Amino acid sequence: MPCRLASGLLADDMDIICPCNYRDADVEEYGCCLCVLYVSDDWISGKKKHDPIEERRPQEYYEKGYPSVMEQKGAGGKEMAQVYRCNVCGYLCAREEPPDLCPICRAKKERFEEFEMKG
Ligand code: SF4
Repeated sequence: MPCRLASGLLADDMDIICPCNYRDADVEEYGCCLCVLYVSDDWISGKKKHDPIEERRPQEYYEKGYPSVMEQKGAGGKEMAQVYRCNVCGYLCAREEPPDLCPICRAKKERFEEFEMKG
């Protein structure tokens, strides 16, 4: 379930399905993600200030959908971004490359494999 405004099309919303693609960078920079569901120890202890978080998702993604959803030349259809699956917990994400750490089970990037979505 995304916490940002979703288009309703899975392919266009793949980057904002929780835990979203922006979580790691926000937790690293601000100590928490945009929705403050994921927080770091420093954020909890108050070492990290509870500053407002700037939206990291580009505005054009809201207008056009996740940009790795590419229009197929000639076919006029859309193709989804590469989906990766964590081999440890099954977490799925659509990104240019898998995350350094799985946001669910903390498995390393090497534990991800390419996953083919059907249908
Ligand atoms: S990781 Fe945080 S910002 Fe991203 S969708 Fe989940 S709750 Fe929202």
